[in-house]
Amino acid sequence: MAFLDVRRISKFFVPQTAAVAEVSLEVEQGEIVCLLGPSGCGKTTLLRLIAGLEQPDAGNIILEGHDLAGVPPHQRRLGMMFQDFALFPHKSVWENAAFGLRMQQLPTREIAERVREMLTLVDLEGHGDRRIDQLSGGEQQRVALARSLAPGPRLLLLDEPLGALDRALRERLMADLHIILTRVGMTALYVTHDQTEAYAISDRMAVMNQGRIEQIGPPQVIYDRPETPFIAGFLGFENLLEGRTNEHGQIETTAGNFRPAEPIPAVGTEVLLMIKPSAVTIGLPANDVAQDANRVHGTIAEITFRGRYHQLLLEVNRIRLVFEYSGGKRVSPGDEVRIAVSPDQQIVYSAAASPDS
Ligand code: ADP
Ligand code: MG
Repeated sequence: MAFLDVRRISKFFVPQTAAVAEVSLEVEQGEIVCLLGPSGCGKTTLLRLIAGLEQPDAGNIILEGHDLAGVPPHQRRLGMMFQDFALFPHKSVWENAAFGLRMQQLPTREIAERVREMLTLVDLEGHGDRRIDQLSGGEQQRVALARSLAPGPRLLLLDEPLGALDRALRERLMADLHIILTRVGMTALYVTHDQTEAYAISDRMAVMNQGRIEQIGPPQVIYDRPETPFIAGFLGFENLLEGRTNEHGQIETTAGNFRPAEPIPAVGTEVLLMIKPSAVTIGLPANDVAQDANRVHGTIAEITFRGRYHQLLLEVNRIRLVFEYSGGKRVSPGDEVRIAVSPDQQIVYSAAASPDS
């Protein structure tokens, strides 16, 4: 049995609409799993159910083989780190880190040892005497982490812990968090709506939509092949075309014919085709064979410099497609171009799977 075993857990705040809908989730010891999804999809509620701060309407939560039903929050031996982490601003780093241990009424010497260990872990040794309000945002977050890890929780629950920080700091703390949690072998559930955070931190990520987990797996797998149009859209893949399979093993769309690397359904099936924007090559408009698959002919509507690449909006038969390219041919708005889309940049969905179902 998994270390944490969430079995078909549901929560209704209002009748008919489940905030969390029959979610099952297994987390192995030492694993870091991210819950990723848009605002309101039930991430916080799922975390609060596990913490015991909300009561489920159905289902079970089993930790290390024991059902947590009826176990009050403070007896679950879980650590929590939320965005408004509420450190005591006028107290020292040391006092803050020791908070949970004092609550447990441990002997002073044991507390001292443990706090020292935790401050070393988060790279704040020697800063014990400083006041919280004298620290940078990043240092405060590391104190918050030390505080939640100090009592030795079985499982750490983090709810958008980096949400309030600026981008550069978030990037660094994401890496720090991953290193620290892995070093202590902490099992963690990490909630975020930010895909880059989920990629950086998780061993596996669960993408949530309307109270359900829609896909779970290693970040690379989900990025490479989002299983539903919703997930594709949430991860920022915008090119979604309606199409139909033809007798040449292609998908016919208003933007052209495509032949994906993956197998496609029988002739005449209606599908949705997602085309990833990245790593396209741009050529001149073709005089070559018009029915060639995997080429999009269109007019450049807009080009935006994005640093490592240019983003280009291509208008094809009144549809707009987004592509990213770096280097190569120089193009300008108004140019007519031909874009080659590689077969493994194409993902086929059933036409029934609309992005909001
Ligand atoms: P997320 O953390 O993914 O943004 P939440 O778990 O906070 O989502 O919310 C999921 C849904 O449950 C939302 O529709 C939200 O409005 C609703 N909800 C959350 N908490 C409560 C509550 N205490 N009372 C009523 N509705 C709630
Ligand atoms: Mg939330």
